[in-house]
Amino acid sequence: MTSYVKEILTGFYSLLAGMGVTIRYFVKPIVTVQYPREKLQMSPAYRGHTEFVLDPETKTHRCIACELCSRTCPSQLIHLEGVKVGKKKLPSKYVIEYHLCSLCGLCVEVCPTQALQFSKEYRLAGYSREDAVIDVFARMQAQQRRLGWPVTPIPEPQPEAEGEAEAKPKPAKPKAAAKKAEIPPAAETAAAPGEPETPATPAEEEKT
Ligand code: SF4
Ligand code: SF4
Repeated sequence: MTSYVKEILTGFYSLLAGMGVTIRYFVKPIVTVQYPREKLQMSPAYRGHTEFVLDPETKTHRCIACELCSRTCPSQLIHLEGVKVGKKKLPSKYVIEYHLCSLCGLCVEVCPTQALQFSKEYRLAGYSREDAVIDVFARMQAQQRRLGWPVTPIPEPQPEAEGEAEAKPKPAKPKAAAKKAEIPPAAETAAAPGEPETPATPAEEEKT
């Protein structure tokens, strides 16, 4: 009889403990994310693929197409092209093969203008490797559209201003050409047929 009552009490205590857990979570804020309808807030330390930093002052990227990032990348996955626009050099293409990226961060660290950062993008899926190729420039333009900022166009090469071209020093004449101008032609210095190659000295003239 005693053991029977003890079992009932133990069962009742278990029931209360279980209900306590249920009630505690019932009043707590919901943490379940309704993926994919809801988006997670990623930690500041999260590393997604690299992207351009949008400068709030200029409302565009800070890249100067110096190619340091593409040369430093151990996987050689950054495909970058730049064009001269006046005195500046700007990127006209910045594409990454994200499926090759080890997220080492070298490209972000080496950038002299702090133009790169890791995105917080985690919802990446595709059916082929080509789906992992990311156009960083186009992504930046999409971000600008979302923010209502002016969209940075893909730059076209522009010739330098006339004043700059004139200010450039003219190429110096090659030394060989300058020397040639000083030396008389070989035909003029050569002795005529029958003539001595060097003029006769006064002693030689007396002998004759
Ligand atoms: S994080 Fe590393 S592997 Fe990825 S693009 Fe940058 S340098 Fe290359
Ligand atoms: S290192 Fe920075 S500035 Fe240079 S090309 Fe890469 S992103 Fe642009």
